[in-house]
Amino acid sequence: MKILVPVKQVPDPNAIRFDASGTFASSTPRVVNEYDQYAIEEAIRLKESGAATEVVVMTIGPSGARDAVNRGLAMGADRGLLVVASDTDLEATDVAAVITAEARDGGYDLVLVGQETSDGGSGVVGPQVAAKLGVPLVSNVVSLEVGDGKLTLGREVEDGRHIVETPLPVVVCALTGLNDPRSPSLKGIMAARKKPVQEAQIASYETNGADISWGKLYAEERVVEGTIIETDAESAARQVVELLREKKLI
Ligand SMILES: Cc1cc2nc3c(=O)[nH]c(=O)nc-3n(C[C@H](O)[C@H](O)[C@H](O)COP(=O)(O)OP(=O)(O)OC[C@H]3O[C@@H](n4cnc5c(N)ncnc54)[C@H](O)[C@@H]3O)c2cc1C
Repeated sequence: MKILVPVKQVPDPNAIRFDASGTFASSTPRVVNEYDQYAIEEAIRLKESGAATEVVVMTIGPSGARDAVNRGLAMGADRGLLVVASDTDLEATDVAAVITAEARDGGYDLVLVGQETSDGGSGVVGPQVAAKLGVPLVSNVVSLEVGDGKLTLGREVEDGRHIVETPLPVVVCALTGLNDPRSPSLKGIMAARKKPVQEAQIASYETNGADISWGKLYAEERVVEGTIIETDAESAARQVVELLREKKLI
C-alpha cells in the first residue's frame, strides 16, 4: 500500500503574534497542522507494521514550508515533495487539484489528510481530492485497521463511534484520538537529511488561481465584565456569597 500524506504548515496556535496595530504578524512561528501530525504518525505505523510499502509527505506552500516536509521525514516518512506556491496562489480548490494530480500519477492507495487546518479550517481539501479522484472519502477517523484490500475505520460521531469498511484507494481524514504522534528522534532527524525531497512549482500543475481574497486578520478586543473584591479572605468569601445570592445563583 502506497500512502500520500499532504500536510500544511500553519501558524503555531500557541504562539500567535500580532503587531502594534493588532494585525497578524508574519513572524509567528510555523508548525505542522495538528491533525496532519496524526496522519503522518498513522502512515508511519502502517509502514512499520508492514502494511504500507512507502510513505510520501507533501506540502504546498512558500519555500519555508519545507520544514513541514522535513518533520514528516524525521518522523519516518520515506520521501517528500514540496510544491512551491506564493501566498496568493493558494486556495483550497488549487491545493486539492495539486494533491489529486500527485495521488493519481503516483498510484497511491491511501491519501491520509488532516480533518481540517487550524488556520484555513475549511475542511474541504480532503473531500475535494476524493471527489476529483472518484474514490470514497471517510472523515473524522479515529481508528484504522488494514484488512485484505480494505480498511476498517472508526469515525467519531456525535453520539458514539461509527465503524465503516472501505475498499482502496480511499481518502481518509485524520482526527484527534487516531494515535499519539511521536516527536522526531535525533536518529530520525539525521536520517531525514539523506531522504529525497522533490521540489516543484505550482505553475506546473493545472490550477485555477485564487479567486478568494482574505480580509484583515486581527485580535478581537475582549471586554470582560467582572467584580474585583480586594479585601481579606474571610470578608471576600462573605461578599462572594452575597453577590451569588443577589444574582440568585445560590
Ligand atoms: C489571499 C490568500 C492568501 C493565502 N495565504 C496562505 C499562505 O500564506 N499559506 C498557506 O498555507 N495558506 C494560505 N492561504 C490559504 C489557502 O487557501 C489554504 O491553505 C487552502 O485553501 C486550504 O484550505 P484549508 O487550510 O482550509 O484546508 P482544509 O481543507 O481545512 O485542510 C484539510 C487537510 O488538507 C491538507 N492540506 C490543506 N492545505 C494544504 C497544503 N497547503 N499543502 C498540503 N496539504 C494541505 C492537510 O492534510 C489538511 O489537514 C491563503 C489564501 C488566500 C486566498
